[in-house]
Amino acid sequence: MPVSLRVQLKPKPVSATDPPLDHPPDPFADLAAACAACRRCALAAGRSRVVVSRGNPRARLMVVGEGPGAQEDATGQPFVGRAGQLLDQMLASVAIDSNRDAYICNVVKCRPPDNRKPAPEEVAACRPWLEQQIRLVDPAVILLAGATALEGVLGIRGGITRLRGRWHSSDAEPLRGRRLMPIFHPSYLLRNASREPNSPKWHTWQDLKEVDRQLRACL
Ligand code: SF4
Repeated sequence: MPVSLRVQLKPKPVSATDPPLDHPPDPFADLAAACAACRRCALAAGRSRVVVSRGNPRARLMVVGEGPGAQEDATGQPFVGRAGQLLDQMLASVAIDSNRDAYICNVVKCRPPDNRKPAPEEVAACRPWLEQQIRLVDPAVILLAGATALEGVLGIRGGITRLRGRWHSSDAEPLRGRRLMPIFHPSYLLRNASREPNSPKWHTWQDLKEVDRQLRACL
């Protein structure tokens, strides 16, 4: 039987005999602590830090990437290396502040060795944490940064060039009712720096403008 990774989201009812709570329950702190203790897959062996999230847990936009790199592993924060800085700049170009207006995480919370792509069994092992993040944040829009995020969240293999820039949806929980937009991963954009029309960077800018339009429409 699979082990449930779901931490308790709602506080149990307080009875007259319970001692008073010093601090209100914090499901995000519980989640971070549970991830920090997780050893469900082989990536646990090589990590320095478990990288859970950064940004605003009340944001209507969630960004999901592939997995931590060296700087993320060292700091415990996702998307803080060069690719993360580019992501921040591109979001800022459509007036989205990555820490104020978005909640940022990855499909796996521990760094794959040599920055390799996480294996399917590693993505599957980490999936309950991601699902819990989606339930807790309850975003209207999820940005899928790169092919691994597209596969890890929607189960669609390959085709990021064809599928980016289009809205996707799913009836599977916890995705039901949310709009999902695949985009090129910022690491790919670092290797393709042209901003000419129809370049990957230009397309990503168009995609982010569409995301911004959608977020404004659901205000
Ligand atoms: S990658 Fe995810 S499932 Fe694997 S050890 Fe880290 S937190 Fe646990």
